[in-house]
Amino acid sequence: MTVWIKDGEVVDPRRGVRHDDLIVEKGRVAGILPRGAFRRSGEGVRVIDASGKLVLPGLVDMHVHLREPGEEYKETVSSGCRAAVAGGVTAVACMPNTVPPNDCRAVTEFILKQAAGAGTARVYPIACITAGQQGKTLTEFGDLAAAGAVGVSDDGLPVADSEVMRRALEYGRFHGLTVISHCEDRSLSEGGVMHEGVVSTRIGLPGIPAACEEIMVCRDISLARLTGCPVHVAHVSTAGAVALIRRAKEEGVPVTCETAPHYFTLDHEAVAGYDTRTKVNPPLRTPEDVAAIRQGLADGTIDAIATDHAPHSPLEKELEFDRAAFGMIGLDTFLPLVLQLVRDGVLDLPEAVRKCTLNPSVLLGIEGGGLEEGSRADLTLVDPEMEYRLREEDLVSKSKNSPFIGMTLKGRAVLTMVGGRIVWERDGTHPDSR
Ligand SMILES: [Zn+2]
Ligand SMILES: [Zn+2]
Repeated sequence: MTVWIKDGEVVDPRRGVRHDDLIVEKGRVAGILPRGAFRRSGEGVRVIDASGKLVLPGLVDMHVHLREPGEEYKETVSSGCRAAVAGGVTAVACMPNTVPPNDCRAVTEFILKQAAGAGTARVYPIACITAGQQGKTLTEFGDLAAAGAVGVSDDGLPVADSEVMRRALEYGRFHGLTVISHCEDRSLSEGGVMHEGVVSTRIGLPGIPAACEEIMVCRDISLARLTGCPVHVAHVSTAGAVALIRRAKEEGVPVTCETAPHYFTLDHEAVAGYDTRTKVNPPLRTPEDVAAIRQGLADGTIDAIATDHAPHSPLEKELEFDRAAFGMIGLDTFLPLVLQLVRDGVLDLPEAVRKCTLNPSVLLGIEGGGLEEGSRADLTLVDPEMEYRLREEDLVSKSKNSPFIGMTLKGRAVLTMVGGRIVWERDGTHPDSR
């Protein structure tokens, strides 16, 4: 079976936007041809009309919480992967703070088995740095890598002990595992529920200062400099953290980082109504921090955009603000929020796409993220002009904890393909393809 994706605008993060047709055969991109050059039709050729659509490499979300095993009432590997492909995401890296945590081969293998059964997005497990995420004893990196883990992190918690983190960086590089650091000095965040600043003072909630993140970013940069081993900083949210990483990169320290769409879209004023869906860790920061995150994206300090998709049920969220859990879902709104950066002139389209496709693939050492001849046919067709008010029932994730409900978003995935197989199609948009 040959699939002919016709008349779209193909965005290749390496080569920019091309008004070409894309031919998919045997799960791969078999050809990228000028419009009209492909002549075969009839039996065995399925034509997909992509006119007015962008054809993007499938997004690669390197920071997702799938909640399985253990908290299947919030999300499962299957429901999370479905939310992913509905949002144009064809690969996710899932964080290990499940119940039990992914600190051994059996859990990594279980997640991969569930992902294979779901048969939609590709899943790349991130295993724990320390046993039980207790911050004391390193896990068996070699064994976890052999089982299919692509990185290690104690995400949800920092690795407080610097000696343990130093060894994690050294063993991580040795075993080809990306080490991802959740930067938080818990002695400073203890009891805090939002950013410490004018809004927390005004509304009377205990704060988490920017320094809480920056102290750990500083420590991790020092360890990367000491060891020469790479470290990847998760969910950067403050101007100070961006500045530290920018300077370290200039000095040749092997540090990379990601931010999440909420950190370049919302600031701490969003918390003023005590809406627990705005409670995230790290917290939403000041407008100056938001501007610095955008600048960091524009100048290349921030390598990747990842959602930190963190599903919670009403049990954890319909509570007083200080008792509610941290986290918001992100897979469902990833694409429109990134496209907004392009409309705002922060990034051009190929660069924005690169930060959600090629760059995270390179950071994780996995195949994918591009659209060239021979690439895996992991791609998504996007209607960049589709405007809609986000309703709760639009969310494909099992959990609905999104502060973007009720807001008007623009840009939506209409068809998603993984390995040449269509895994998601928005109804009624592709009459030609039926
Ligand atoms: Zn985290
Ligand atoms: Zn996380």
